Formats: sequence, C-alpha cells, structure tokens
Amino acid sequence: MQPYKQDATGAWWVIFICHINLPDIQPTADRPVGIDVGLESFTTLLTGEKTAPPKFYRRSHKKLARAQRKLARAQKGSHNRAKARKRVAKIHQKISNQRADWLHKHALGMVQRFDVVCIEDLNIKGLARTKRGTLWVKSFSDASLSTFMQRLQEKAEWCGRRVVKVGRFYASSKTCHVCHSKTALKLADRMWTCPTCGTTHDRDGNAAINIVHEGIRLLAVGTTESQNAAGDGVNPAKRW
Ligand SMILES: [Zn+2]
Repeated sequence: MQPYKQDATGAWWVIFICHINLPDIQPTADRPVGIDVGLESFTTLLTGEKTAPPKFYRRSHKKLARAQRKLARAQKGSHNRAKARKRVAKIHQKISNQRADWLHKHALGMVQRFDVVCIEDLNIKGLARTKRGTLWVKSFSDASLSTFMQRLQEKAEWCGRRVVKVGRFYASSKTCHVCHSKTALKLADRMWTCPTCGTTHDRDGNAAINIVHEGIRLLAVGTTESQNAAGDGVNPAKRW
C-alpha cells in the first residue's frame, strides 16, 4: 500500500499508523442493553429510546442532482467537465463522511453507556432476497447496519465491553416479553396487544427486551456467538 493517495475530489491523503492510548472508560455497574434495529428507527433500546436513521443522502439529494446535470451537459475533455466531475465527487464524499461520523458516534455512545450490548445478527444479503428484505436494504441505504455492527465491535474492544449477537432466527419481535407466547405480526404492526396476557407492546421496544434476555441467556450458557471485547486481536489503529 502506498503511504499516500489522491482521491476523486483532488484531496491528498497521507496514511500512517500510530499507537494511541485508549480512552479510560469507567464500568457502568453492569448494565446490559438490547438493541433492535429496524425500518422506522435505526435503533430502539430496551428502554424504548429510539434513534431515527439519518437522512444525509436525502438532505444532499438536490445539490447532487444539480451537480450531476451540470456534469452531463459539460463538453467532453473540457476544463468545465473536470471541474463538474470533482464537484460531484465532493458531494458524494461529504455524504459518506457524514454517515461514517454518525455511525462512529452512535456506536461509541452505546458502549459508553452499557457494559453488554446485545443486538440481533441480521444478514442484510439474505434479507435482500425477500420482499421484506428489499425494504430493509432501502431503509439502511442511509446508515448501513453492517458498518454499525463493525463499529460496535471495535468500540467494545476499546472500552472493554461485550457485544453479544443474538441469532437472526430468534423470534424477537413476535414473542411477548411478559408471558413468552408468540403472536403472528404484520410488518405494519408497530403496536400490538398480546392475546394471551393482554400487555400492549411497542414492536421494537418489545423486541429489544427479548434480545437482551436472549443475549444474557447465551452469555450464561456460554454457547454464544458473542465476541469477547479483547478477544480477536484487532489492532484499533488499523481501523481509524
Ligand atoms: Zn403476553
């Protein structure tokens, strides 16, 4: 790998590796959290706290369309065309920087607040083949879930926290966290009432509670896909 490169916007990047001291994070009295990731809220915590998916692309969409039209009209080989191409690249880069920044901060916030982060291990590629999956992929075009998972893992390594991935076949949404009976739900059912015990649930908040229960159970029985924060020899310097 060359230690420097120039990107499509014309900016030069110098690449170097350094050793840094990791932030000293205090334990949080052993607080676990369950996170449900979804369509309307990027994340819902077991407390019901929701974070909307960021709309960076939509925010810059008009600007981007204008720049792309200008590029299409510019004469091939002209100075104006080169300028227009750089402008389009800069807008794309800004959107991707905004997403990356948001994902870093959102993931760090989770591991700073909680000791054990339980999250559903969703397979985006698998989901893409289903009708439901199509929706998922569109929804996450603004903030990729798999990048969020990676960020969670690396921040957990930094802070000595654990990330527990709960299998994607675990029925977190349709299981009532109070009486554990299962109810068939449509994707549109955001709120539902359990026919067995009568509890009314927020769909994602209920799922987040089930995810943390399952995560803690997996940790306890030790057959977990959880990644011990310090376990897999990742050099944080490589990731940043
Ligand atoms: Zn119930």
